[in-house]
Amino acid sequence: MAASGALSTFRLPPLPTIREIIKLFRLQAVKQLSQNFLLDLRLTDKIVRKAGNLTNAYVYEVGPGPGGITRSILNASVAELLVVEKDSRFIPGLQMLSDAAPGKLRIVHGDVLTFKIEKAFPESLKRQWEDDPPNVHIIGNLPFSVSTPLIIRWLENVSQRDGPFAYGRTQMTLTFQKEVAEVDVGVVHFTPLTQPRIQQPFKLVEKVVQNVFQFRRKYCHRGLGMLFPEAQRLESTGKLLQWADVDPTLRPRQLTISHFRSLCDVYRKMCDEDPNLFAYNFREESKKNKSKKQEKRE
Ligand code: SAM
Repeated sequence: MAASGALSTFRLPPLPTIREIIKLFRLQAVKQLSQNFLLDLRLTDKIVRKAGNLTNAYVYEVGPGPGGITRSILNASVAELLVVEKDSRFIPGLQMLSDAAPGKLRIVHGDVLTFKIEKAFPESLKRQWEDDPPNVHIIGNLPFSVSTPLIIRWLENVSQRDGPFAYGRTQMTLTFQKEVAEVDVGVVHFTPLTQPRIQQPFKLVEKVVQNVFQFRRKYCHRGLGMLFPEAQRLESTGKLLQWADVDPTLRPRQLTISHFRSLCDVYRKMCDEDPNLFAYNFREESKKNKSKKQEKRE
């Protein structure tokens, strides 16, 4: 389907409620899969409004389930909505929605962790990175167990301008559920920047951030220390913090983007000087130390 310039207004015809769909197709939430459904269409409309104007947009919805958010997206006059759902129980209910919105809803029974969205929409939607964002949006309400690895993958895709970001600076509107039983959802809208705030490779930034946050309640020097082998830990952590001009007694949550930028820049220099440093993993070192101790005892 080609991107059309003409504005289209569309409303779904009257349909059974989401609650009725759940009953009709016996779609009880599987708690082990952290399934938790949004039933109130006023709430799903509110979530979808956070994505901005979706008129004639191409939207990729991850994990549509019984289709609450799906309905709100279809009612926003999109050009096309592509949904990827892993659980086959939801496909017939989604098919019903597709029949009610002819030519607008494409259903894929698959896994968002492997689906290649970069091949799914027309090439003509592609924009230069520096241009305004393309009319392509990602929207989803996924459980934490899936949304966390997915968002990290997408952030890496942003840095490489591939995956969903092969179209340009594709916008994402995602809900994050705190706990399975909690009805409260936080909605986060992301638009990739034209220039990253930290000009270092994604993997390096990821390593620094991961290390800092593994001791989220402690002072930041505790997690940063784990970037260095035990034998040089004290000295190298001191250098890193001093050269980056970061107070060692700040807690991870108190660190700003500019703190992270300095830490990543200094850590990069230290890795350039010591080619083995980046590959260092403190978990592997402590595992080795433990097995050495074990051997000595035996
Ligand atoms: N979007 C619906 C809503 O808001 O009511 C359902 C939300 S429920 C928390 C998450 C949905 O994502 C479920 O339908 C689940 O089957 C689906 N899901 C979980 N992991 C998935 C994956 N890896 N790929 C595709 N869908 C997935």
